[in-house]
Amino acid sequence: MMNIILFGPPGSGKGTQAENLEKKYELLHISTGDLFRYEIGNQTELGVLAKSYIDKGELVPDDVTIGMLKNKVNANPDVKGYIFDGFPRNEYQSEALDNFLAEKGQTVNALLQLDVDDEEIVKRILNRGKTSGRTDDNDESIIRNRISVFNDETAPVYDHYDKSGKSTKIDGIGSLEDIFGRLSAAIDAAV
Ligand code: UDP
Ligand code: MG
Repeated sequence: MMNIILFGPPGSGKGTQAENLEKKYELLHISTGDLFRYEIGNQTELGVLAKSYIDKGELVPDDVTIGMLKNKVNANPDVKGYIFDGFPRNEYQSEALDNFLAEKGQTVNALLQLDVDDEEIVKRILNRGKTSGRTDDNDESIIRNRISVFNDETAPVYDHYDKSGKSTKIDGIGSLEDIFGRLSAAIDAAV
């Protein structure tokens, strides 16, 4: 099994690149943000709860997010591994992921961080907001709060996996093909 965390601030290109990596390496791409949006679309209890946090750019509570992630993994055991996109989002979630995978005799093999500066992020997300239909993509103050939450709560996840030498920074500026090449090279080097 090969388990990859695709990491980086909002709008850094995780979702786009994860879809291509999913095909190349035959992994299952799990985006917790997409799972929340599916629940929101179906107006489930989980979706209504998640929306109240997402609309402010805050993190959905750990127990809700971790439970949903575990369900998705457990429902899809017959894969070569997982690409986690947008999860874990804080240190507690990374420990929960480590324990969950350890129970299955698995581990996180690599964390790849896409580096993109703040002004580029704001520009990209506002641009995505024109077509994404996402309320959290249309308001600059929500976008800036998402960046702050990333810096304050999520960035420590990089250090968590860096302790075991699993974290790598990738330049997230350039053509999609170039960035895909950088990510592929880092995955090949990690396994
Ligand atoms: N979110 C969260 N936990 C997750 C994934 C998403 O709390 O594990 C929430 C959070 O409010 C975030 C929003 O969902 O701002 C959108 O996350 P997503 O990863 O889809 O957006 P991206 O960061 O890729 O732009
Ligand atoms: Mg995303």
